[in-house]
Amino acid sequence: MPAFDNYCNGQWTDSETGERFDVHNPADPTDVIGTLPQSTAADTKRAIDAAAKAQPGWEKTPAPERGSILRRAASLLDEQADELAEILSREEGKALPEASGEVARAIDILYYYGEKANDLGGEIKSSSSQDTRLETKTEPLGTVGLITPWNYPIAIPTWKLAPALATGNTVVLKPASQAPIVAIKVAKCLDEAGLPGGVLNVITGPGSEVGQTLSTSEDIDAISFTGSTSVGQMVGETAATDGKRVQLEMGGKNPTVVMPSMDVDTAAKIVSEGAFGVTGQACTATSRAIVHEDVYEEFVDELVAHADNIGIGPALDGYDMGPHVSQDELDGTLEYIDVGQSEGATLETGGSVPQEDRHESGYYIEPTVFSNVSSGMRIAQEEIFGPVVAVLPVSSYDEAVTVANDTEFGLSASIVTEDLREAHQFVDDIEAGVVKVNEKTTGLELHVPFGGMKASSSETYREQGDAGLDFFTTSKTVYLN
Ligand code: NAP
Repeated sequence: MPAFDNYCNGQWTDSETGERFDVHNPADPTDVIGTLPQSTAADTKRAIDAAAKAQPGWEKTPAPERGSILRRAASLLDEQADELAEILSREEGKALPEASGEVARAIDILYYYGEKANDLGGEIKSSSSQDTRLETKTEPLGTVGLITPWNYPIAIPTWKLAPALATGNTVVLKPASQAPIVAIKVAKCLDEAGLPGGVLNVITGPGSEVGQTLSTSEDIDAISFTGSTSVGQMVGETAATDGKRVQLEMGGKNPTVVMPSMDVDTAAKIVSEGAFGVTGQACTATSRAIVHEDVYEEFVDELVAHADNIGIGPALDGYDMGPHVSQDELDGTLEYIDVGQSEGATLETGGSVPQEDRHESGYYIEPTVFSNVSSGMRIAQEEIFGPVVAVLPVSSYDEAVTVANDTEFGLSASIVTEDLREAHQFVDDIEAGVVKVNEKTTGLELHVPFGGMKASSSETYREQGDAGLDFFTTSKTVYLN
């Protein structure tokens, strides 16, 4: 079984104790994909020291040179894209086309920020004094800690580390323990592309040890975290105590509002893709369909038909929907299915572990639709993070918006309507960082900002696009007389 190491100070190293943990294939947990270091606080501190030492030299490295390393790494990743997609499917469970799409996104991100590095620095501004040249100068924050979740195990680490490195920061990355291998592969490509030792460090191990050490370290200047709201809020509070800059991207309870002007099959297809893609394990997954009463029953029937049509099975065997990432995640979803039934919602389809032979050992769950859900129910309020969609009836646009905004979250939202005025109104009314019209709530483009409102995000900084660069930089205003 392959053994993967930490990447620390340009070396591949084990943890100080030599303790390791296994990463399993959620489609077949007897398939162990690799072992990784169960790192300690001391291992993490060593990586922080290496990153802090490497920072001044990396900051002085001309930005176009930093960018060319990112682009070289992108091309190395591209050469092994198929193999990486397979590893990603095996460690996280998502269907192969979804895994390939995610690997392609990571490659694009490295190219994108590699190019952006040619265009950094600051701006010359006009001054009211003829004797003064007035300019802004952009500088890196220093040494940053990145803490990432398992559900997009190559895209999310890459969309954090690429802008951090492009702008001259050094990095300690702690990938999720469920799916850390593809992040290690990205580090390998950056190493082969010529990244100097210490500039990027990847340390695997428990969040409560490695992540906690990063967020409490006084030598870390900023923390960018993506994960659950409960852990994120804790990390945010700890990290902010010594004045670190903090970015938190957390959970969602994303609604799609269905208005009667749209044909019902199109609406059901949009909701089905948003709810059941990547096994519902996306922060932007559609978990509430808020449907006008005029088309409610027809919509539920169509959505059930879509759900029942989804082939569930091992990603590598070409099925549409893979398993949950772990037994714990599966148990969590099954618990919510019990909660929904005990709250009085109607289980229209799904709700169980499928029974065919191919599901015997994996963490599979059927795509699940609940109807007759009201907004106060837990299944309409709490993030389930599985392929479960709650369908809520409403009698008007105003009621739909009130229900859509009636959760603590505000990540992504969409409306399906043929009425342009209603669409524009929704963009204004909805409390969400991403708003879509006639599209599923999932799916992002890499060159525009991404982030949520309310409990979904720390809101101060966005990720991706130029916003991704802003988080990792500060600026000086310079008066040159
Ligand atoms: P999680 O349990 O919060 O873990 C996220 C990361 O935090 C992991 O690397 C984890 O390490 C680490 N961690 C755990 N405890 C920690 C601590 N005490 N201090 C510092 N770090 C700690 O989330 P997850 O289950 O991996 O991911 C699913 C969640 O992420 C969902 O809620 C989803 O909505 C959210 N998400 C949000 C976005 C977004 O952009 N808004 C995108 C994707 C996912 P271990 O793996 O070792 O526990």
